[in-house]
Amino acid sequence: MPEFDVVIIGAGITGLAAGYHLKHEKPGLKIAIIDKNRSFAQGNTAKSAAGYRDLFTSRINRKISGSSIAFYKHLQQDLKIDLGMHLNGYLFLMDSRRLDQDAVRTFISEGRAEIVGEGSLKDMGYVTRPSSDEKHLLNLSDIDGALLGYNCGIIEPDRICSYYEKELRKTDVSFFYNTEVKNLKFEPQTRMNYPGEPFLWQNMEMRNLETSTGSFRAETTIVCADIWTTALLNSAGIDSHVRGKKRQVFRITGEPASALMSHALRPDQEVMPFTIFPSHGIVMRPEPGSSSVWISVADDYNRPFEEEEDPKPEPEFYENSLFPVIRSYLPQFSSCRVSSMWAGHYSYNTIDKTHYVFREGNIIVATGSSGSGIMKADAIGRIVSSLYADRKITRLYDGSFVKTSDMGVENRKVPPEHMVI
Ligand SMILES: Cc1cc2nc3c(=O)[nH]c(=O)nc-3n(C[C@H](O)[C@H](O)[C@H](O)COP(=O)(O)OP(=O)(O)OC[C@H]3O[C@@H](n4cnc5c(N)ncnc54)[C@H](O)[C@@H]3O)c2cc1C
Repeated sequence: MPEFDVVIIGAGITGLAAGYHLKHEKPGLKIAIIDKNRSFAQGNTAKSAAGYRDLFTSRINRKISGSSIAFYKHLQQDLKIDLGMHLNGYLFLMDSRRLDQDAVRTFISEGRAEIVGEGSLKDMGYVTRPSSDEKHLLNLSDIDGALLGYNCGIIEPDRICSYYEKELRKTDVSFFYNTEVKNLKFEPQTRMNYPGEPFLWQNMEMRNLETSTGSFRAETTIVCADIWTTALLNSAGIDSHVRGKKRQVFRITGEPASALMSHALRPDQEVMPFTIFPSHGIVMRPEPGSSSVWISVADDYNRPFEEEEDPKPEPEFYENSLFPVIRSYLPQFSSCRVSSMWAGHYSYNTIDKTHYVFREGNIIVATGSSGSGIMKADAIGRIVSSLYADRKITRLYDGSFVKTSDMGVENRKVPPEHMVI
C-alpha cells in the first residue's frame, strides 16, 4: 500500500494551491494528490465564470481575495506566466438606493472603486430606465450609475492550476488521476484484531483511504473536494457544513455581444468589465478569445441543494428567466444566440458564505468557497498549510495576516458576506 505524509483529495484549484504551499513550506513532505477525473482542474474549477474582485463586505474576504489576486498578478507580470488575467474591472450597475450603501462608500474611501455615471453606461448601450411595464412585470430596478472596482477582472483558472501542477511535478509529489476515494473511515490507532473495531473507547484515526484503484495510507488527509466533500465526510461522520447548488453559464454570441464585449472602461484594457446587473444578481463576463459574453446568475429559491456528478444546463432557464431581464437593459441582445452552455456547482457555506478551513483529527478540510474559490485559492492554500503546521497566524502573499482559526468551525470569526454573486 503506498504511504504518504499527506494525501490531498482533489486536484482542483484549492487542492493544487494547498499542495503547492505545503511542499514549498516543507519540501521533505511525501505528498500525493488524488483526483477522480482524468486530469487536474476538471471539477468546478472548469465550470467557473472566473472573475476576480477584492470587493467584499467582510474584511477577511477582502484580504484573502486581495492577496490571491496579488499573487496571480505576480505570476503574470513578474514571472511572465500568462494566466489570461485582465484587469478590466467589475461593474456593479445600481439604482440610487444601492449606490448610497455603506459598502459602496467604504470601497471608494479605500481607493478600490469609483462611481460611473449613467451617461457612460448609456454609451455602452444600456437602457438605464426600462419601461414601466417591464419594471412592474420583471421586478426591475433603474440604472442610476455603477460602481467600478479597480482590482478586479477575469482570469483563466486552468492556467493557474497548470502553473501549480507543473511546479509540483518538479518535486517528488505523486499524482493519481482516475482515482476516486470511496470513503473515509476511522480505524483504531492500535488494532486488537477483534471483530467490530474501532470501539468507542479506542483512539481512532483516519489513515487508510479506500480508492477505486486500491488503498493508500496517509498520516494526514486534506480534503479539497468542493461539493463532493460532503459525501466523503459523511462516510466518516464529520459534518462538511456546506451544501451544493447548481450554477449555469450561457455563452452569448452575436454582433451586439461582441460590440459590448470590446467596450472597456479601465485604462489599457480592451474588454468590458465583468458586469453585475441591477436586478436579480445576473452577471455578464466578457470572453475576449471568442468575442462573446457569458451570462450567469446565482439563483436561490426553488433551486434545490444537490451534489450531482455532471449537472446539466437548462436552456429554458436562459429563455424564460435570464433573457427577459437582459433584453430589458440590452434590447440589442435580441439578435444574439446562445452558442454553448454548461453547469457546475457552488459549494455554499450557508451561514456566512465564506470558505471553511478546519481540522478534525488528522483530516484537514478546505471547502465552502461559495462562488469565489478561484479568486481566493492562493490564500486558502496558505491557510491549509498553516493549519497543517499548527501555526496560529497565516502570512498571505501580500504580507497581510489572518488568524488561522478564524476560518475554522469552532473558533470561527467571519461575519456574513453580503456580496455573493
Ligand atoms: C457557474 C460557476 C461560476 C463561478 N464563477 C466564479 C467566479 O467568477 N470567480 C470565482 O472565484 N469562483 C467562481 N466559481 C467558484 C469556483 O469555480 C469554485 O469555488 C472553485 O473552482 C472551487 O475549486 P475546488 O478546487 O475547491 O473545487 P473543484 O474544482 O470542484 O475540485 C474538486 C476536485 O475534487 C475531486 N474529487 C471530488 N471527490 C473526489 C473523490 N471522492 N475522489 C477523488 N477526487 C474527488 C473532483 O474531481 C474535483 O477535481 C464559480 C463556480 C461555478 C459553478
